[in-house]
Amino acid sequence: MEERIYERLLRATRREFYQQVSIDPTVPQLLEKAERDGVETVWHRYLAQQPQCGFGLLGDCCRNCNMGPCRIDPFGYGPSRGICGATADTIVARNLMRALAAGAAAHSDHARDIIEVFRGIVDGWAKDYRIADEQKLLGVAKALGIEVDGKGTLEVAREVVEVAEMEFGKPGNEPLRFLNAYAPKRRKELWNKLGITPRAIDREVTEIMHRTHMGVDADPLSLIAQGLRAALADGWSGSMMATMFSDVMFGTPKPIRIWSNLGVLREDAVNVMVHGHNPLLSMKIAEVAKDPELVELARSLGAEGGINVVGMCCTGNEVLMRLGVPIAGNFLQQELAIITGALEAVIVDYQCLMPALVDVASCYHTKIITTEPKARIPGAIHIEFDKAKAEESAKKIVRLAVENFKNRVKERVFIPKEKMEAMVGFSVEAILSALGGTLEPLADALRSGKVKGIAGVVGCNNPKVRQDSSHVAITRELIANDVLVVGTGCWAIAMSKHGLFKPEAAELAGPGLREVCKALGIPPALHMGSCVDCSRMLIALAALSEHLGVDMSDLPVVGSAPEWYSEKAVSIGSYFVASGLFVHLGTVPPVLGSPKVVEILTKGAEELLGGKFFVETDPHKAVKAMLEHIREKRRKLGWPE
Ligand code: SF4
Ligand code: SF4
Repeated sequence: MEERIYERLLRATRREFYQQVSIDPTVPQLLEKAERDGVETVWHRYLAQQPQCGFGLLGDCCRNCNMGPCRIDPFGYGPSRGICGATADTIVARNLMRALAAGAAAHSDHARDIIEVFRGIVDGWAKDYRIADEQKLLGVAKALGIEVDGKGTLEVAREVVEVAEMEFGKPGNEPLRFLNAYAPKRRKELWNKLGITPRAIDREVTEIMHRTHMGVDADPLSLIAQGLRAALADGWSGSMMATMFSDVMFGTPKPIRIWSNLGVLREDAVNVMVHGHNPLLSMKIAEVAKDPELVELARSLGAEGGINVVGMCCTGNEVLMRLGVPIAGNFLQQELAIITGALEAVIVDYQCLMPALVDVASCYHTKIITTEPKARIPGAIHIEFDKAKAEESAKKIVRLAVENFKNRVKERVFIPKEKMEAMVGFSVEAILSALGGTLEPLADALRSGKVKGIAGVVGCNNPKVRQDSSHVAITRELIANDVLVVGTGCWAIAMSKHGLFKPEAAELAGPGLREVCKALGIPPALHMGSCVDCSRMLIALAALSEHLGVDMSDLPVVGSAPEWYSEKAVSIGSYFVASGLFVHLGTVPPVLGSPKVVEILTKGAEELLGGKFFVETDPHKAVKAMLEHIREKRRKLGWPE
């Protein structure tokens, strides 16, 4: 009897816990199902890791050589130096810069893969890809100083791809060509003066790995300066090229209505989820899923509704804004999609894939299919995606998913009802077109104070934060204070799910922003794409600063990553700070072990660059600080507060 009471109490406690981990109503429903099915999720594993290591949280443990590992006692009772003599300042700075290097490398290697296929279009082997947006290609060519008059599209494409390929490893000290073409003059002069102008993407990342090796750079300021250089290489070249070449090959996004959240899965169809980041695969999967032969195969196996492709994370954002493919959720929902029991396959490229997907899938009929040699997961089915035969390759993968429909166990299927409509796809070109082809209406709204400022909100989910709660709280409070919010990544998926990407959400905005949004028929928060598309924000802000004749750091603009977890976010935050922005972080980076590093990131950076980091886990306090920063910038510009 006592045991039953104990079990009941335990269940009630668990239920309460499931309610607490997310504000998304699909989450507790599926966590209850996970419990019934005996499946562990990211939140269970997060609990199992408690308490997390204090040295790791402070960032003052080092494993950079085999004399170690070493750790510094933050309270001063134990060692204050590693075996080699490295201080907490050196160790914390080195660790943070290695994280930044990984993030910059991930974005830029994603770009490299896209550029490789673009080269295939030029050379003729990538037969299933094409140039979809010629205007964008010509615009990029002109910005790079390439003569386009009298040349055919392929000739221009060849010259553009040659520049792009050299961005990764060109010799010499000349600045990156994309950064040179798109960054504002004032910023470039400042970066030159500070000696942080990036020269080549791979070089900057490699130099971080070199400097952080035992016995090289021990100075936290010099380490952070190199980190900023690598971050600039990512933002103004690596990520920017990923965005631009994706637009040229798959089309520049335009506003489109879509559906989001796990309710987009269908009982009557084969459900295929694309997950990861790179559109090379996901675009093809979405295209071939319409193939009449595959659809007929699905129907013949009992899936009356045919094949339903849905997205997850940033590759989900890529197909969402270009093809209107519904999005099943953001980072913390990847396992839950499988737990519905309705997913025939998860087809992944790379980044943000939890290796646990395979464990979760082993409890259901779902197949996890890896496709990239650089992202394999033990236990997954690996079918290499051959970009030279992209359609054939994609069809082979989708066929496997379709054939798996017969293994679906109907009794184990539970698809939450919740889904939300959203308007997404606000590329810079789309925003300009909504504004009538010029930035002046936005500049005017900013000057007059109808729109008080702009916030770029980006980034992930993190089990340390109640899923989506900070994203939503921060965005709602900013728009209520007449701050236009733009953003990318899993923030954007959160906005889609919680109704903030509906034009009707303008009702939640302050009077000035509401008037602007209603006049333009846009939501008060704008979807600008996937993580690499943070580069769209750089381009928009650069254009706005040039239009207003001020430096980027003078604009009433803030950045925020309320629920970030990824090393890529370290790079993104850093290139925004180096570009002059005030950047809020909603989860604490592992830097508190070094007061010196904290001082550089939160104060020193502002003196040198006009931008800085600000860490605050409470969303309301964070918004207060962001609004104060916007007010201060407006005061300095002589604009009404
Ligand atoms: S580099 Fe220095 S601090 Fe790091 S593990 Fe080696 S000896 Fe320890
Ligand atoms: S926003 Fe973060 S979690 Fe989401 S896909 Fe991008 S890196 Fe991954």
